[in-house]
Amino acid sequence: MNEFEVIRRFFTHHAPHTVLGVGDDAAIVRPAARSEVVISADMLVAGRHFLPDADPRLLGHKSLAVNLSDLAAMGATPRWATLALALPRVDAHWLAAFARGFMALARKHGVALIGGDTTRGPLTISVQIMGEVPRGQALRRDAAKTGDDVWVSGRIGEAALALSTTAHTPRITARERTRLRLRLDAPTPRIALGEALRRVAHSAIDISDGLIADLEHICERSHVSADIEWARVPVARVVRHDASRNLIETVLAGGDDYELCFTAPAARRNAVERAGRAARIAVTRIGRIVRRAKRTPLVRVLDAAGNAIELRRTGYDHFRE
Ligand code: ADP
Ligand code: MG
Repeated sequence: MNEFEVIRRFFTHHAPHTVLGVGDDAAIVRPAARSEVVISADMLVAGRHFLPDADPRLLGHKSLAVNLSDLAAMGATPRWATLALALPRVDAHWLAAFARGFMALARKHGVALIGGDTTRGPLTISVQIMGEVPRGQALRRDAAKTGDDVWVSGRIGEAALALSTTAHTPRITARERTRLRLRLDAPTPRIALGEALRRVAHSAIDISDGLIADLEHICERSHVSADIEWARVPVARVVRHDASRNLIETVLAGGDDYELCFTAPAARRNAVERAGRAARIAVTRIGRIVRRAKRTPLVRVLDAAGNAIELRRTGYDHFRE
């Protein structure tokens, strides 16, 4: 099979809200009037983000899911995606499964695959996602305000727990491990929640590097700090029962959850709850945005007595030695 057969067979699909899709030199799309186009890219590299023998259907899902999650964090509606693939060889079974996982999630969210690139090379999956948001309504990292509540969707740290060794977390049953593993391998982008939070939340980010590290990004860009109450953070039951320092760090600094962390004015608590119900995902208030003070950390985690819990790590950094 040559490059063009691969594209025709696996990556040519009906493309909704698209003027011209796969097959020309470039694609053409027509954004809605009075909308802004929101664009993001995320790359998955074999050996870095996944093992070379990872299930290709889950990889197809995850490579799109992590991109959709970025649009969810902007409050955008996803519309179009491009897919750049480097493949060590043409393996029709692998490609069919990968395309199935990718396209199932794309169809679920009405996303059109409108183009890409296919080349030989070490297995690398690079997706660019484009979406729309009504003018001025995107949820940005730089818009948190002192006095805002800090919220998260879903449960935090579950993807990282999936990687914790049995020695560290002996209480996790085999069945629970399977559930956690799916949270890591097949994350659910919170698109409906992001859309419902337009004109409700002030700022948002998706949790890819770890709750603390990602909330620090909001604080940095917004020139504020945040206080988080550990007891309020929604976690897997096993963590509530056995909150060793190690486990607390795994939860707060573990990445790959792809839940949303967002801030909203205290006066909008009911509206946030409504957004969560509309999107069918739990939303939990875990702390608040406070004025930035000199020599205090961007994000403080407080125990039940109100004392700061010291964390040795806050999140994942690809270039940390
Ligand atoms: P060009 O040489 O002009 O870059 P290509 O031969 O790379 O064109 O691609 C032909 C068409 O197929 C283009 O429309 C391109 O966007 C699309 N395409 C290539 N690879 C992929 C892919 N993996 N998924 C989706 N579309 C693809
Ligand atoms: Mg090309």
